[in-house]
Amino acid sequence: VVTIPSTEGVSVRMARQKTRDTACELVIRRCLHRSGFRYFTHRRPVQALRREADIVFPRLKVAVFVDGCFWHGCPVHGTWPKANSDWWRAKIEANRLRDSDTDRRLSEMGWRVVRIWEHEDPEQAALRIAAVVRNRRRSG
Ligand SMILES: [Zn+2]
Repeated sequence: VVTIPSTEGVSVRMARQKTRDTACELVIRRCLHRSGFRYFTHRRPVQALRREADIVFPRLKVAVFVDGCFWHGCPVHGTWPKANSDWWRAKIEANRLRDSDTDRRLSEMGWRVVRIWEHEDPEQAALRIAAVVRNRRRSG
């Protein structure tokens, strides 16, 4: 649970947006499922690593993260709220550092990480994920 300081309109609305099972994520999952892919959702790719991915293909070691534009500091929609800007900046920067740390650790353990921005076209994103998974199948 995150305590949000101040009550500045836009930022607070964005911060309160859902971070799991977002519309984008659900469409991606539906597309993948329809194409015959089976996967786990909201699961740690590696038990010992306390990071949860949104879509996980354990055998093929593919982990998908659907990142919210606000919390993960999207270059297109990431905004720095004016009120309590230091607090927000620290928060979002910490998330970004954590994301790249997650990517690094997982790839060191042989995982392929796919990051999707919540603003991306979910059908295109699903195609991208499908391509990665098929590629891993071939090379596995
Ligand atoms: Zn965005």
